[in-house]
Formats: sequence, structure tokens, C-alpha cells
Amino acid sequence: MSTPQQLIAGFQRFRERSFADVDAQFHDLVQFGQAPSTLVVGCCDSRVDPALILDCAPGDLFVIRNVANLVPPAENQGHYHGTSAALEFGVRILAVQHIIVLGHAHCGGIHTLLEGEVDKDDSFIAEWMKIADAAREHIEQELAGADSEVRQRACEQKAILVSLKNLMSFPWIRERVEQGQLTLHGWYFDIERGELLGYNPTTGQFETL
Ligand SMILES: [Zn+2]
Repeated sequence: MSTPQQLIAGFQRFRERSFADVDAQFHDLVQFGQAPSTLVVGCCDSRVDPALILDCAPGDLFVIRNVANLVPPAENQGHYHGTSAALEFGVRILAVQHIIVLGHAHCGGIHTLLEGEVDKDDSFIAEWMKIADAAREHIEQELAGADSEVRQRACEQKAILVSLKNLMSFPWIRERVEQGQLTLHGWYFDIERGELLGYNPTTGQFETL
């Protein structure tokens, strides 16, 4: 289902469901505003909609989606920082209590990072994926002889850790984490096995949640 006509029909069904019931949560959200407790940084990939795979309703999640669910380091160079602006809104305005960086298996962005398939001189993707260069370098050093699937999975998970580290470079995130008001999580959706893994800092591994 993806043509505009099918999407309009989908909206009609959504409207009937959400507006026919006067007690629906959606009405409260309109009246009282949003107050999600969790911000998710997910990938643009059409298969990994955070609200869908985490079975959430409108108002539950503040979602930022970009190529390969990356968080850039805090910078102030006068550029257009879409992800950083959304983080600021979620943390400073909505005061979310959790940030989840939600990576996934078979990520096209990570595949591009590892294989270098785009023209570096004329690609927004190549420049964007440089955020995860530390993950790529780690994989090239530690898993040089491994097969491509192992490298891809390891790089997808390592990139989540890079993003968690970059989150801490924003002073208003670091401050809230240190004060216990905000908790950061690294999650990995294995689209192939239908599993959700979470990074355990104690073991240094992604473990089934
Ligand atoms: Zn992806």
C-alpha cells in the first residue's frame, strides 16, 4: 500500500477509527498536547517504523528518523541541523525521560558506509554517513576477514554506540543524564529474526530484551 490514492483511503479509515470514538486518546492529545516520555532515533527504512514495531499509539513516542538512525555530534556551525533541532525539542521542550537509538538489521545506510557505493563528491548520504566512520574503522580493524553479513551486523550495532556517545556531546543531554532525569538506550531490531536487542553496558553486548 503506497500509492497516494491508497494512502488517502488509509487516512479515511484512520479518521473513522480515531474520531468516531469520543473517548479516543487522540482527542486528549489534541486538547492537552503531546507529552511523550520517550524519544526514538530511528532509521528512514520503510520496514522499521518505530511506532509500528513497538506497538505504540499517537502521542507515545517522539520520533526522529534519518538515514541509519544516526546522531551527529553537537556542532554549531550555522548549518541546518535537523536531527539536533528535533533532539533539542524532545529533550528541552518535551522533557522526555528516555532516548532510544533504534538501529536495525539490513540497514541500507550502513551497507553504503561499508561498501562505499555512492559518489562521495555528489552525495548527501556519503557525507551524512561520516558520522559513523568510527564504527566503520572499528569493523575494518576488528573484522577484516569476516564475511559481509557479520561485518554489516557488527557495524550496525557499533554505529548505535557512536550515536549514544554523540548524544552525550549535547550539554543539555549530558546534564540531564548525569542528574538522573534522562536515560539513554541503544536498541537493535533484528528484522530477519524478529528480535529486539538492547545494549548492555556491563557486558558490552547487545542482548535480547
Ligand atoms: Zn536503516
